[in-house]
Amino acid sequence: MQTLTMKFGGTSVGSLEAIKNVIQITQREIGSGNRVVLVVSAMSGVTDTLLSSIQLALGGDKWGYLSVAEKLRERHHDTIKRLINAGDARDKLSATVNKLLDEYVELCHAISILGEATPRIRDAITAFGERLSARVIATALAQNGINAKPYDASEFVITDNNYQSALPLWDITEAKIREKLLPVIQSGITPVITGFIGATPDGAWTTLGRGGSDYSGAIFAAYTHSDELIIWTDVDGVMTTDPRIDKRARVLPYVSYQEVGELAYYGAKVLHPKTVQPILNLKMPLRVRNTFNPDHPGTLITSESQRSSTIIKAVTAIRSVSMLTVSGKGMIGVPGMAGRAFLATANAGANILMISQSSSEQSMCFVVTDDKAEAARMGVETEFRAEIAAQNVDSVEIMPDIVIVTVVGSGMRGTPGIAGRVFTVLGDEQINVLAIAQGSSECSISFIVNEHDLERAVTLLHDLALEAVPI
Ligand code: ASP
Ligand code: MG
Repeated sequence: MQTLTMKFGGTSVGSLEAIKNVIQITQREIGSGNRVVLVVSAMSGVTDTLLSSIQLALGGDKWGYLSVAEKLRERHHDTIKRLINAGDARDKLSATVNKLLDEYVELCHAISILGEATPRIRDAITAFGERLSARVIATALAQNGINAKPYDASEFVITDNNYQSALPLWDITEAKIREKLLPVIQSGITPVITGFIGATPDGAWTTLGRGGSDYSGAIFAAYTHSDELIIWTDVDGVMTTDPRIDKRARVLPYVSYQEVGELAYYGAKVLHPKTVQPILNLKMPLRVRNTFNPDHPGTLITSESQRSSTIIKAVTAIRSVSMLTVSGKGMIGVPGMAGRAFLATANAGANILMISQSSSEQSMCFVVTDDKAEAARMGVETEFRAEIAAQNVDSVEIMPDIVIVTVVGSGMRGTPGIAGRVFTVLGDEQINVLAIAQGSSECSISFIVNEHDLERAVTLLHDLALEAVPI
């Protein structure tokens, strides 16, 4: 008997058809003698809707957030009506859904009266999406002969109070799962747990960041000692590139933890970048599979990398980023310039996605998301105001309309010529490369090109990845 943790994403629980597939997939595993732990997202679009209602409440638009609440009520009740036969279980579920939504409306009133939404109340609001879906899914499974029960992850995942992007307190979380969840699983119950959510030690709701239910899945997989973590989503697996950019994109049968980490960080939407972290040392197999095509084996992600003949396995791109350049003669040989620039950027709330500096040290550049670019520029200029006044540092320049393109493949380590191949391809096609970075992990090469070159650059490099994937 194996224990499987299966996480179902928003689209996988977002419609009647999808939920029916979830039921079948779960029945199939239990039927073959496995124990299953389910971790679920909110129904697709619900988290966005909840976030938008916070804005409406802040603006005092009572009619606006009440109508959002009504839409959520309708959507969940409609799903319940079509999924679950009339009777006690359905009545009880409907009452629970109403109670949760009433609580949610109360919080919106509070925001609207105060005219302020603290990070803490924002998390309490976004948590409703998963709290609703877990209850619907558990009741639907129970109706289909599975001994399922819903659980709020706030009982198990104890986090710091860094709301909206909380980090688990590992020891307490492990102990809670051991004490409160393992006995449930051992007694033959199939828990249906809310993804995305945690709680501080004193019981305030927290969330793990957008897309964070993948991370939740990995946390539960790790501490329930699962044999495998399966992320059920709406694509067949991890792809060689974004099929919207190049429709020749194919599913990669195998990738390593490290490769998938780079892919997630550099723009592939399939997994939250933190997913691998809780299971990294356990070498637990991780699979990405399609709820709407359950016979497809998906992508198997393991600690070992499988070598591919072309080394390059996948190509990703990140849009909506800007490059900041700090330059000046007074930067040469002065220690601490990069540190100060990066700290100022962090203090401006901007996450740095890529860094490049030439060894002449006359300039360095780094990439942040568009929405943070201006704040980062102001932060760095303030930090260097003395140097700028003395003309040792020029003003900080922002270059908009650029993208980061990343090629990934762990076989780059120790294989000469990969970078050469990549840049030859781009050079032959007259695609100008504005900056380059390669980490010493040698698992990926990232570079900046103008936004209008994105599709050509990705497609040309994708040729290199495709050579290695069997059709
Ligand atoms: N519902 C949350 C979100 O949309 C978490 C998740 O689905 O992973 O971000
Ligand atoms: Mg997701």
